Amino acid sequence: MEKRKRVLVKFSGEALAGDNGFGIDTSILKFIADEIKSLVIHNIEVGIVIGGGNIIRGVSAAKDGIIKRTSGDYMGMLSTVINSIAMQEALEHVGMEVRVQSAIKMEAICETFIVRRAQRHFEKGRIVIFAAGTGNPFFTTDTAATLRAIEIGADMIIKATKVDGVYDKDPKKFPDATKLAELTYDRAMDDNIKVMDDTSIALAKDNNLPIVICNMFAKGNLQKIIEGNLESCSIVR
Ligand code: UDP
Repeated sequence: MEKRKRVLVKFSGEALAGDNGFGIDTSILKFIADEIKSLVIHNIEVGIVIGGGNIIRGVSAAKDGIIKRTSGDYMGMLSTVINSIAMQEALEHVGMEVRVQSAIKMEAICETFIVRRAQRHFEKGRIVIFAAGTGNPFFTTDTAATLRAIEIGADMIIKATKVDGVYDKDPKKFPDATKLAELTYDRAMDDNIKVMDDTSIALAKDNNLPIVICNMFAKGNLQKIIEGNLESCSIVR
């Protein structure tokens, strides 16, 4: 049997929030669930990591010094669990089989991350959502997504954003900004580009994991990428 493609899709927490930037908008959850479903129907194995920025980020929680950074980060990791449970519901609502695996044990809510168990879920056609980041403070969910992508042997990580790729400068500020179809890992770390934080890009570089940056709100985009059509995104490799 031909080996199935496996991808890790990363969404920021903010992507789940409606226009107010906070909380979870179920119509967005449903949109994402349908996009992911179209991949699974086409025989793709899908892992998901969702950020927590729509609920809390460690750095912001700790900014006035009342909450310690490490505690803020644990609060941030817990918010990714909230988002993951919501995403699991939306995916089940559209008929998918899903398991949430947390980096921090919380057995009443979800499974604990065990890579071999995740592999088994993929083989059975289940979607696996990796929650609670890396389980360590001072990391981001981009790093968690890169780490999980490598651990599960994903063919690529798709960073789903609100923009259709990477530009040489901020397209909102500079009308002459041009989109970069392909860039190196080193370029991706440039201050004015920064597709993800340095830790995650370095990890991807060390392990030759391609990073695709695309607009998650364009219907059918994820499917196009899997089929090798990279027109409406950027790729770091
Ligand atoms: N976080 C952490 N360790 C991790 C992943 C996340 O401490 O491995 C915390 C950190 O406080 C972060 C928050 O969880 O700010 C939410 O994640 P992130 O900011 O990456 O979410 P996104 O910006 O993608 O919504």
